[in-house]
Amino acid sequence: ELPQFDHQPRPYDGPSREEVLALRQRYVNPGVLTYYREPLMIVEGAMQYLYDETGKRYLDAFAGIVTVSVGHCHPHVAAAVKEQAGTLQHATTIYLHPTLPRFAEKLASKMPTGPNGTPLDRTYFTNSGSEANELAVLMAREATGNQHVIGLRNGYHGGTPNTMGLTAHGTWKFPSNAPGGIAHTHPGYCYRCPYDLAYPSCEMKCAKDVANVIAYETPGQVACFIGEPIQGVGGAVLPPKEFFGIVYDAVRAAGGLCVADEVQGGFGRTGEHYWSHQHFGVQPDLVVMAKGIGNGAPLAAVTTTEATAATMTKRIHFNTYGGNPVSMASGLATLEVIDAEGIQENARVVGGRLKEGLLELRDKHDLIGDVRGLGLMLGVELVTDRVAKTPAKQEAADLMELAKERGLILGKGGLHGNTMRIKPPMCISKDDADFLLATVDECLGIIEEKARHGS
Ligand code: PMP
Repeated sequence: ELPQFDHQPRPYDGPSREEVLALRQRYVNPGVLTYYREPLMIVEGAMQYLYDETGKRYLDAFAGIVTVSVGHCHPHVAAAVKEQAGTLQHATTIYLHPTLPRFAEKLASKMPTGPNGTPLDRTYFTNSGSEANELAVLMAREATGNQHVIGLRNGYHGGTPNTMGLTAHGTWKFPSNAPGGIAHTHPGYCYRCPYDLAYPSCEMKCAKDVANVIAYETPGQVACFIGEPIQGVGGAVLPPKEFFGIVYDAVRAAGGLCVADEVQGGFGRTGEHYWSHQHFGVQPDLVVMAKGIGNGAPLAAVTTTEATAATMTKRIHFNTYGGNPVSMASGLATLEVIDAEGIQENARVVGGRLKEGLLELRDKHDLIGDVRGLGLMLGVELVTDRVAKTPAKQEAADLMELAKERGLILGKGGLHGNTMRIKPPMCISKDDADFLLATVDECLGIIEEKARHGS
């Protein structure tokens, strides 16, 4: 049973699910993806919950796609958006408007320091994480005069030409796109160690291999390294603590800057720090943000040092909606809620309880091969054989379906789509965590029972 929740969804009297599906199939590009065998229609959201057209409530353990950081339609954010939309909905950066620098100032107050204590306080706003990563690459190339960019295998950085190139999953790469100057190094994915070694006796061979990538695949000089401190789409891959220090040192020795892609891991989601890269004790030159920054507004940003930001004055670089007042209002209100409501602490406490519970489920269910992640950025990798680590792709799809029937929305990811991603709005309660654990337990039991009976 879902925990009690004091919200009455509005009666829905719009087009039926079948009508919406038919319209979508007729007019929307078929490349637009839907989860689930029967696509789920969502008509209302309230905090950590979503409602379908029948009024059925779901715990959203995927937060959109790790986007709704403080809750669907959070009252403070919704009020700020409404107020701004009714006052000034659009102004480009060729004019001054007050919300943009106010938000940039607030964001700067949340940034860690860059290399050698240099402030990271200059922000360029874009509309999506892809654009923001694209811009980070451009800045790094301009700042260093170098071309080569290094990413991590199993990483995801977007769908624009360079970011699709940086993304390292064949499933996301379109055959016609092959941008130059991009190389990939090992991600620190211990569960599937490419050397079949174990931490710590491996001596971080995977991280050290970046020196070989630089030597063999670049002229020895690079523009930057881009990495998600905890891989999101790749399935909550959390490398050992010293991983990024080793990679950053090698990249800096080759003249490159270091970019932390905090699109999924930022804004307190890991619980222990505001930024996921802080877990590794590293200081990036550029931080890329999107998703949780605006609780669902089309808003993204790159924040960097004054010196790196100055590269953007070489030419005109302009985007029509970047810094849009409504997005800025949403971002500002979101950061205020994160501060005011102890959101990061909640991510630490509830995330800790979830991880503990998932580890207990691993002892009970052979299907669970690995449980990993930090705070409310967790991954559960399913395998049909614990020794061979065979990806349980079908079982992962079945788990999602069974959980949906019971009012639980999970995410999935990883190269084989066999990792459940648990990244709910960070306002999730302990009761929600217990419901999630009980539901996953029940569903895995059903899947295992079915497998035993060969049906
Ligand atoms: N970086 C990361 C880590 C992401 O997870 C994503 C989106 N899944 C992106 C970049 C791209 O963001 P967007 O979809 O807003 O372009």
